Amino acid sequence: MVEIRKLKTAKLMKKVMADHFYEIDAAMKAGNPKVAWCTSVGPAELLRAMGFVVYFPENHAAILGATRTATDYIPVANAIGYSPEICSYLTADVGAYLKGFTPLAKIYDGIETIPKPDVLVYNTNQCRDVKDWFEWYARRWNVPCLGIESYVNVGEVTETHVQGIAGQFKKLADDLTAATGNKLDMDKLAETVWLSRKCSDLWKEVLEMATHKPSPLTFFDGTIHMGPAVVMRGTQVAIDYYETLLEELRGWVAEGVAAVPGEKFRIYWEGMPIWGKLRENAELFLRLKTAVVASTYCNSWIFTALTPTAVTVCPSGCRKRPGSPS
Ligand code: SF4
Repeated sequence: MVEIRKLKTAKLMKKVMADHFYEIDAAMKAGNPKVAWCTSVGPAELLRAMGFVVYFPENHAAILGATRTATDYIPVANAIGYSPEICSYLTADVGAYLKGFTPLAKIYDGIETIPKPDVLVYNTNQCRDVKDWFEWYARRWNVPCLGIESYVNVGEVTETHVQGIAGQFKKLADDLTAATGNKLDMDKLAETVWLSRKCSDLWKEVLEMATHKPSPLTFFDGTIHMGPAVVMRGTQVAIDYYETLLEELRGWVAEGVAAVPGEKFRIYWEGMPIWGKLRENAELFLRLKTAVVASTYCNSWIFTALTPTAVTVCPSGCRKRPGSPS
């Protein structure tokens, strides 16, 4: 019999995630602020700086997986033509929608549906599937779907690449204003990018706590505690969360508390978590006295290239350093 040691901060996680979903649900019901759907590595900072509340359907798909309901709904999407070979996040989410199901309604009293967006915004930097996923909802609800088409198979990033993407961002901001009336606030953008970078740095620090021997956390803790880095980057809430978590982890390190008591082996996890088997996997590795201390998945939300002090270019083409007067 093994027992998973839970960080106390996990309770705070439940609260901040609940607040996140209730905020979006309230916005949808009131029609204000407007709701934007965003891909997980999409332009969340831009959307927040334009006054949208931001919802991440990939997070919803992960919840479908973690609640072991994804496999009930993937075939529903397959039945309307989505291949079983494509991303199961997409098919689980679309299938659940077609059946009128969301685990959010079971977890959070008063939430009945996923939030209908005012606009859907993607970036193909992570995969092509997200565009098809969002366009399906856009057709269904007759709402605009806008996005950034990223370059693929890039070796060295050149100025041409940077200018190409910057141009798309400027057009995206203009198109969002035309579609919804929301305007870009450049000071808010600078602040949001700063908050995102800070969140990213703190999340990196959290993951690096696993370099201690014994490690105070494992990959399975990371998959839970990454929530704010995924859905709340660009907010003070995420920063406060990771500062609290880090304080607790530092305490564990100082006291020599191990996530895996008697830790003998330290290994790396490749690829996605098995959402529906997180507990079983965590217990399996506990029994094997093995700490999974590194992964590409949890590291995917470290964005050290975010540079809040860089010169930004406003949609109308003026150049302005964040924080400086117009
Ligand atoms: S393929 Fe990966 S990045 Fe793309 S939608 Fe699915 S989970 Fe997200």
